[in-house]
Amino acid sequence: MSQGAFSSLKLKPELLENLTSLGYTAMTAIQAQSLPPILNNQDVIAQGKTGSGKTAAFSLGLLERLNVKRFRVQALVLCPTRELADQVANEIRKLARTIHNIKVLTLCGGMPIGPQIGSLEHGAHIVVGTPGRIEEHLRKATLNLEDVNTFVLDEADRMLDMGFQPAVDAIVDYMEGERQTLLFSATFPKQIESMAKRILVNPVRIKVESTH
Ligand code: ADP
Ligand code: MG
Repeated sequence: MSQGAFSSLKLKPELLENLTSLGYTAMTAIQAQSLPPILNNQDVIAQGKTGSGKTAAFSLGLLERLNVKRFRVQALVLCPTRELADQVANEIRKLARTIHNIKVLTLCGGMPIGPQIGSLEHGAHIVVGTPGRIEEHLRKATLNLEDVNTFVLDEADRMLDMGFQPAVDAIVDYMEGERQTLLFSATFPKQIESMAKRILVNPVRIKVESTH
């Protein structure tokens, strides 16, 4: 079922052109509902099944806001596992392939930290990672989040299941100033509600049952 064209959104022409070349013609239901408030700079809590297209929803929001000429970390995406972080980083790179020189870095646990520190010294626009390792970089001051304007919690329910709640709360304390927070989850247990209350401001709530 068609949910509307991406071209109805206020997106940079290079992003729209790329979506067409990727064969992303119609928005999925969760994209159609979440992208208008995301592009309107509102905080969003979105619940949707696996495969509903949540990654592109938050990625297009953070890419629309990103200034590639400013080589600072402007977006942080937290994921529960390295596998998911790699998938998200690759989807962002795919959606951003018409934005030249954009740097997306993954920072996950279970990987040696030395090379990550080296990569951070070179800089990045977008960081995707797991909460424990991101917190470790913050404690070491090898990662600076002062310029983050988009903060995404992807698969928030799984992050809580894995015990990442204290790390997520610690990470939030390292961000300052105005930012948009986007929380995506497949399920909505009470714990998510209380985390959302602490982290998001007047969020728009979206719940989508279908995957298309
Ligand atoms: P979720 O995170 O909700 O489980 P994903 O973001 O991983 O889902 O998306 C599932 C698949 O659908 C991915 O392969 C993605 O590239 C593709 N996809 C997402 N949005 C669209 C779209 N609007 N049109 C075509 N394919 C899409
Ligand atoms: Mg996902």
